Amino acid sequence: MSAATSVKSNGHSSAPPPTTPSSPTSPERTHELNVVKDATCTFCGCVCDDIDLTVDGHKIVEAERACVLGKGWFLNHDIEDRPACLIQGQPATVAEGIERASQILAGAKYPLVYGLSDTTAESQRVAVGIADWIGGNVDTTTSVCHGPSGMAFQGVGEVTASLGEVRNRGDFIMFWGSNPAESHPRHFTKYSLMPKGMFLPNGRKDRTMVIVDVRKTKSAKAADIYIPIKPRSDFEALWALRALAQGIDLDPVQVEAETGVPLATWQDLMDRMKRAKFGVIFFGMGVTMTRGKHANSEALLALTRDMNRHTRFVCKPNRGHGNVTGADNVVTWRTGYPFGVNLGRGYPRFNPGEYTAADVLARREADAALIIASDPMANFSQPAREHLKSIPYIALDPKDSPTTRHAAVAFTVATYGINVPGTVYRMDDVPIPLRPAFDSPFPSDFEILSGIERRVKVLKAAANGMPASRLSL
Ligand code: SF4
Repeated sequence: MSAATSVKSNGHSSAPPPTTPSSPTSPERTHELNVVKDATCTFCGCVCDDIDLTVDGHKIVEAERACVLGKGWFLNHDIEDRPACLIQGQPATVAEGIERASQILAGAKYPLVYGLSDTTAESQRVAVGIADWIGGNVDTTTSVCHGPSGMAFQGVGEVTASLGEVRNRGDFIMFWGSNPAESHPRHFTKYSLMPKGMFLPNGRKDRTMVIVDVRKTKSAKAADIYIPIKPRSDFEALWALRALAQGIDLDPVQVEAETGVPLATWQDLMDRMKRAKFGVIFFGMGVTMTRGKHANSEALLALTRDMNRHTRFVCKPNRGHGNVTGADNVVTWRTGYPFGVNLGRGYPRFNPGEYTAADVLARREADAALIIASDPMANFSQPAREHLKSIPYIALDPKDSPTTRHAAVAFTVATYGINVPGTVYRMDDVPIPLRPAFDSPFPSDFEILSGIERRVKVLKAAANGMPASRLSL
């Protein structure tokens, strides 16, 4: 470190601050660097909370222990030079934006609140409150990734565990339709494969790892056993395993024709599963977004339940976005359902396909929308995008995006985890606190949404003839 540079720690950890941060050592730097210990990365569902950030003003210059995706998330973070609020593309104050947004939402007949997977649980809670006040639909990005799992959880239930239990006990780890080596780069090293656990003193050597997938991914190369199943045959394969778990004889010719895998391979897999002390199945969108969708997830959850007649088995979806698990949790603890919920009758109704955002928009039903931390204009179907473009909607995002560009009201917000404190849920439903690196000049989602909720309450009360004095604001 140059003599002119000093490092100040947030003191969260008892470990001393690094004395030689790798990149911030340029001799010309003459100001103080800040070190944020045990910051939380919200790039993927692993939500690693052991990242040490070195911060130079409004720039993160080092993210110790982050993987390649996490480093990209932290080191590429910039404060954009944009107005905090645009109304119809014209700069406006945040207060004007909140007023206009509230008028749009309170005046709508069938409004939609959508997104939520990349913001704090505190903001998600307020967003569901807004949906309730305006009698709208609330839906999250779960509906386009693990929505089928959400339906299966409602139908079958879930035998589950924390990632800490997986780390300490999981001696048989199977990934089905999931490629964590590329999507969750620290999954293997932090939780599921490499760590030495309380009951696995030899770490990797004490675990058997199986990959079931339609192609040999980077994860498959790290596996003890790779089972290449025929594309779109997950349902048949999972039911073959359910039958084997119960000792039912199967026709080898039919099983191989249906799944692309010999019966002997499935039988060997089942024998290993029964011998495991603590089996874990992680599954990804290779299960939920292929033929069978929620029926695949149901079969997998039922297989996990079946295995508990033989040994201890759990299963978890490998969730993508940083706080998509928080969105499921918050929407569930506020409405009873995880996504695709309609609050138009004053009580929640759950019906994916009817109340999910992509469907509500494609059928041209919504007449206004509030989009938080997501970009449907970049990834919804063309009919849904065309309809969204035709209705007044509000967008909250730290970055410029196709969705913010067409919004009636666009707010530039601070980035959760980097600028904003709060809570996110790891993929195993464990809530984790955020430790931000530096302040943003922009307001948080929570501030904007709280302002909208307060104003919408007043507008709805006035429309219903109720004096504002009777509201708790
Ligand atoms: S594994 Fe995920 S949460 Fe952990 S550092 Fe990498 S991107 Fe961030």
